[in-house]
Amino acid sequence: MDKEQRLSTEPYKGVRDFYPEDWAQHGAIFRKIRRVLRMNGYAEYQASPLERTELYESKGNDEIVSDQTYTFEDRGGRSVTLRPEMTPTLARMVAAKRRELTFPLRWFSIGNRFRYERPQKGRLREFYQADIDLVGLPEGEADREIVWLAYRIVKAFGAKDEDFKIRVNDRRLLMSAAEAAGCVTPDIARQYLRLLDKKDKLPAETYRAQLAAIVPRDPMAVVEEETEGPVAERRDAVKAFIESVKKWGVSNVVFDPTLARGFDYYTGIVFEIFDTNPENPRALFGGGRYDGLVSLFGGEAVPAVGFAFGDVTFQDFLATHNLLPAPNAAPDIYIGTASEELVPAAQMAGMNLRMQRVKTWVNLRKRKLFDQIDEARKRGIPFFTLIGDEEAGSGMLRLQPLRDELGRKDDERWKKAYSVEDAAHVMREALKATEA
Ligand code: AMP
Repeated sequence: MDKEQRLSTEPYKGVRDFYPEDWAQHGAIFRKIRRVLRMNGYAEYQASPLERTELYESKGNDEIVSDQTYTFEDRGGRSVTLRPEMTPTLARMVAAKRRELTFPLRWFSIGNRFRYERPQKGRLREFYQADIDLVGLPEGEADREIVWLAYRIVKAFGAKDEDFKIRVNDRRLLMSAAEAAGCVTPDIARQYLRLLDKKDKLPAETYRAQLAAIVPRDPMAVVEEETEGPVAERRDAVKAFIESVKKWGVSNVVFDPTLARGFDYYTGIVFEIFDTNPENPRALFGGGRYDGLVSLFGGEAVPAVGFAFGDVTFQDFLATHNLLPAPNAAPDIYIGTASEELVPAAQMAGMNLRMQRVKTWVNLRKRKLFDQIDEARKRGIPFFTLIGDEEAGSGMLRLQPLRDELGRKDDERWKKAYSVEDAAHVMREALKATEA
């Protein structure tokens, strides 16, 4: 093939290839998150990324549905959309089995989402999200748990309260402030909400001009100034909610009357988590209460509250604050072979070590000892062992550490021959000591 015809090795625009180290990093982050969620009684569910387009047309954010979905016709003429978010799928699944499920549900799901966006820092066309939802309880304790859980997840990575901020608002406050400011229909109020959601991305003058075209008075002034009536009551209720979250030890939760959130389906509190480092200006997490979504599928309403966060912005946050968990992708030990004839014995040693839960890499090629050790180092493997005639006969192993932090080479531990069980134990202890 000449140059023109060569296939590109670039991935499709706005999506990522995850090479093993990248995927290991990704896995280390989500492993920690899964642990926190399971500890709190949340169960994992999953669904296909393919959904009928109508699922997103019924409700949701106009911008996401009209401009940002990957939608195509399948070979049977049906319109299919790659899920841009998980909440509609969750609502569909809950509605489908509402009679069989034991409410409340504490559920979470981790998977990829697709949005046709302009790729930029913190924004891709395929990203991973963890969606966490508490379904079947009215507002109150459930909302507190959800906000607290979002906080817990960030804290599980070692973040300090001053590294991030949780901004809380209430959709009903925004709607009643919009109404009091002169938005005469709910449609106009929603228009205002959408504008507010984009506020930070617009120049101040553009925002003011667009605002004036929708509503005679700035609803934010109404939120600040009202001392009685529905706006004041709602504002004070959000503030009381925030105070109650603080009582759980969350010091970085604040009231943000300008927080709108993109989706139309929210009916109560909404919240977002932001990095306090201005390098990452995008929200890490976003969520809120959505009591009307499940009833779109018929039947009585099922109240729900939840949040989602993306791997792209969260990884930026962890990197900025030096909190990325160690990926731990490499095997624990490289089993070298003194000659090709000893490969079967090395494979056998590998099987025995794996039964002791030691991650094992076995050399299958004819290579010099020096090259095998060099290869083990390049692969980031911390221990090396050689299978020679003696080891093949006795089943005993000698361990050679390949990292300085595992102790001196002439340490007593590395002079002895060990049974497989003891070798596994000695390696584990040595590795644990380097983590501490
Ligand atoms: P949303 O589903 O729009 O409420 O977003 C929730 C979280 O998902 C955001 O705070 C981001 O962390 C993440 N997210 C949303 N859209 C994207 C995107 N296009 N690329 C990367 N992450 C995203």
